[in-house]
Amino acid sequence: MIKITWLGQGGFLLEVQNYRLVIDPYLSDNLLAVQNLARLHPFPLKLEELRPDCLVFTHDHLDHLDPIGVKMIRQAYPQCRYYGTHNAFEHLLKLEIPAELVSEISPGCIQHIGPFTLSPTFASHSDPFACGYLIEAAGKKIVISGDTNYDERLLDNKLASADLMLICINGKLNNMNSDDALKCVRCLTPAMALPMHIGLFAENTADPMPFVTGCRESRIESFSMIVGKEFEI
Ligand SMILES: [Zn+2]
Repeated sequence: MIKITWLGQGGFLLEVQNYRLVIDPYLSDNLLAVQNLARLHPFPLKLEELRPDCLVFTHDHLDHLDPIGVKMIRQAYPQCRYYGTHNAFEHLLKLEIPAELVSEISPGCIQHIGPFTLSPTFASHSDPFACGYLIEAAGKKIVISGDTNYDERLLDNKLASADLMLICINGKLNNMNSDDALKCVRCLTPAMALPMHIGLFAENTADPMPFVTGCRESRIESFSMIVGKEFEI
């Protein structure tokens, strides 16, 4: 069993056997100062509730690798480890995360992290090193798209028939919209597909329901996640 909590945008907390893997958490409001983008909801967990064993990044954009949030986590959790694709890796080192705690994720490199096995997957985004992940743990398979445009290389056989696919649907800034995401999940046929990368910024969000309805019509389980509300697969 994997416990899953959506942290907003592309961020997730995955927990197996008390090991807590956190992906792309946006804790601060750093984009308010940089691009005048104000977050619409607070980060759903207090820092002391997050208790990450490791942070994993899909790419180096400020809504995914939040430098203020990383510094908060570094200070509160000195043992926490960090995994990032090339640009994210470099950024983490610039944030003075000790090199021995940071691992670079490159295409084809599989990481064993606690009870999780993590394989980077194809993504086509404005960060050329962006990736998604295939995450395996507790006999379950989760695919997280990361930020990506639609591309036939997303339809990789090894991603087929996952237990869960978490997929971006905001349709802006080099990300798929609901129709693109539906094309993906109809081809890859996960048991469950959930829409993400919505709801954090008024300027960059989308209605999850067309995707949810489209999945159900294709007999793929789906619902609109509530930020901070844990569910299990
Ligand atoms: Zn993003």
